[in-house]
Amino acid sequence: MRARAVRGSIEAVTDRTPTEPGAFRAIQEPLHQALPAVVQPEWKERFPWLVQGTTRAASGFDLGLFSDASSPRDVLTRWDRLRAETGMSMVACAHQVHGGAVRWHGGAAPGLHLSDPCDGHATATAGTLLGVTIADCVPVSVVDPRRRAVALLHAGWRGTAAGILERGVAVLAERASSRPADLHVHLGPAICGRCYEVGPEVFEALGLTAPGRPTPLDLRAILAGRATDAGVPTEHITVSTHCTRCGDGFFSHRAGDRGRQVGFLGIRGA
Ligand SMILES: [Zn+2]
Repeated sequence: MRARAVRGSIEAVTDRTPTEPGAFRAIQEPLHQALPAVVQPEWKERFPWLVQGTTRAASGFDLGLFSDASSPRDVLTRWDRLRAETGMSMVACAHQVHGGAVRWHGGAAPGLHLSDPCDGHATATAGTLLGVTIADCVPVSVVDPRRRAVALLHAGWRGTAAGILERGVAVLAERASSRPADLHVHLGPAICGRCYEVGPEVFEALGLTAPGRPTPLDLRAILAGRATDAGVPTEHITVSTHCTRCGDGFFSHRAGDRGRQVGFLGIRGA
């Protein structure tokens, strides 16, 4: 058993106020076997048809398409390596705008596809890899093993306030007939609740009681609560123990890094 259960807010599951922090299991993500990346280990065992992970900053593996930290040629070469090592045909990503939109992807020509600006992607097509770029925000992976459909979301506080997690669940319901009770949610490497000090306006935007001064916020706990409110079973919600800010091996916007890691998710091709 690699997972360990933490957090004391289990009682909140049955009688909780919307937007409160939710319950989840913290989980250690081991390294990917071929890429500078970490993976959700339980999913690796249970869903062998799934491709999932978050890249690491190790060896300067910057995948930022819009952050100008690396040359475009180097960045595109790394994206191509990500696609090749995961065995996927096409990669779908977008310029991210901290909004709530989630785009559905079918099949497309091999290679990297940039769609119109958005912060979420979903698919039921094998061989289509979804990607979101991250450097403190949360890569949210949503998986429906019953329907074999997936959604990947880039969630900072603005996207969370805009309802991107709820939109991801809704798009899976609309396009793949997914039921929330079947969904599994993993919140990957992101800034932790000790490192993420934010102003009252962030608390207000998230529907939380605003403190009078800058206060730490655990955004992944908030997202876990929103997943619970959307109908995802608490036992299906896991959170990475990795912090991009105080841990090693990840790009952190708050730490001054200009590079970006990528959360990736897809259904393995035949
Ligand atoms: Zn931290």
